[in-house]
Amino acid sequence: MISKILIANRGEISLRIIRTCKEMGIATVAVHTTVDQDAMHVRMADEAVCIGKPRSPGNKESYLSISAIISACEITGSHAVHPGYGFLSENSEFVEQLEDHDITFIGPSSKHIKLMGDKITAKETMLGLGVPCVPGPNESIDSVEMARSVARDIGYPVIVKASAGGGGRGMKVVRSEDDLVQAYHGAQQEAGASFGNEEVYLEKFLPHGRHIEIQVLGDGQGNAVHLGERDCTIQRRHQKLLEEAPCPVLDDQTRMEIGGICSKAIAEMGYKGVGTIEFLYDSGQFYFIEMNTRLQVEHPVTEAIYGIDLVKEQIKVASGNALDIMQEDLKARGHSIEVRINAETVPDFIPCPGKVGLYHSPGGLGIRMDSFLYNGYSVPPNYDSLIGKLISHGENRTLAIAKLKRALEELIVHPISTTAPLFQLLLEDKDFLKSRYDIHWLEKWLKENGDLLKNN
Ligand code: ADP
Repeated sequence: MISKILIANRGEISLRIIRTCKEMGIATVAVHTTVDQDAMHVRMADEAVCIGKPRSPGNKESYLSISAIISACEITGSHAVHPGYGFLSENSEFVEQLEDHDITFIGPSSKHIKLMGDKITAKETMLGLGVPCVPGPNESIDSVEMARSVARDIGYPVIVKASAGGGGRGMKVVRSEDDLVQAYHGAQQEAGASFGNEEVYLEKFLPHGRHIEIQVLGDGQGNAVHLGERDCTIQRRHQKLLEEAPCPVLDDQTRMEIGGICSKAIAEMGYKGVGTIEFLYDSGQFYFIEMNTRLQVEHPVTEAIYGIDLVKEQIKVASGNALDIMQEDLKARGHSIEVRINAETVPDFIPCPGKVGLYHSPGGLGIRMDSFLYNGYSVPPNYDSLIGKLISHGENRTLAIAKLKRALEELIVHPISTTAPLFQLLLEDKDFLKSRYDIHWLEKWLKENGDLLKNN
């Protein structure tokens, strides 16, 4: 069994991982940059190592430096690394280098990360395993002529996507042939700048889908289960803001069918660890878009309804244990919703770092607040603006919403602007309450309700 884990991350996810390690009796090592020396993950870990200055655009320092992380493992005698999400969590080279140094990566093999990290090979693999995919050829588009002919075959609207894509970047929707050339070059440029890889592909644009993702867990020994789905349809600029489980518009039979297809695919691949198979769900059909080979930001909603600690399961399978959960043992209970509390102004989403004078975390039955804030902490401007995740769990969706509203009222992050007022308004909306929305709904809602948010 693993006895010490270095957490190659920061923020709320580092704390979340440390908590499980403590419960399992595993020693923890935090890494941090010079601006993060007073961060809560550094205080909570058993040991901490400074790995340099914060990231600046274009450099691969600190949390993105493979050599710095491996050196920190060697200095502290850590034989396992948990990558969290983001940073090096889906970097196959990192995993290969850890393997070379005899350090266990808490996650899948480098082979599976590579396979799923490229969206074209991911689609090809999933199709081969019987998972339904968005219509479009599984090949990169190398010229404008090819883009034209493929788009005509698929039929407009189409979407140009970066094969190395992530975080909603490198994606352009094309409604007619007149816009194709510009979108093609635009996506290529964005992909090159964001991922160092200009490769793009084309697929059908599904204008009214919902984003539904299946949580899977495999042991790399041919056993796998699914833990139902999460609905992440509430998005802005292809980025999730609110997630819930179960999906309010899916019935049990459909859930078990798509979940079964996913767990079978994972078992056949020999996949080890947690993973998320993401779909667009449109007119009763699922269309695979990508697989994330790591823990997701929104994993707590699944933990809430299944009563399972996903980080504990990750550590168990990474230690070589066979899966000890059977599909028939997994029974979901109630409804859970997560909202992302970002240090941003609303409705324009401008990052708002700075010193937190007063922080008060909501609590009570069915409320979980995963945050690294404390009174006097300064949110640095160098990183993602996520400062907390507020999660509610109730017997049904109505009760989960009521709890979340109550918890949002309790939250104090003074004087920093956060996205909390947005959710207070959203949770009152009649279309939201009736689950009548698609992936583009929130952007329209923000235009209509922007003034109300400004006055907040
Ligand atoms: P990323 O890896 O950048 O997060 P994804 O492939 O997961 O990109 O897509 C992110 C979001 O972009 C989806 O949740 C959806 O809102 C939108 N999207 C992606 N592909 C399509 C498509 N074919 N049709 C419509 N929307 C899409």
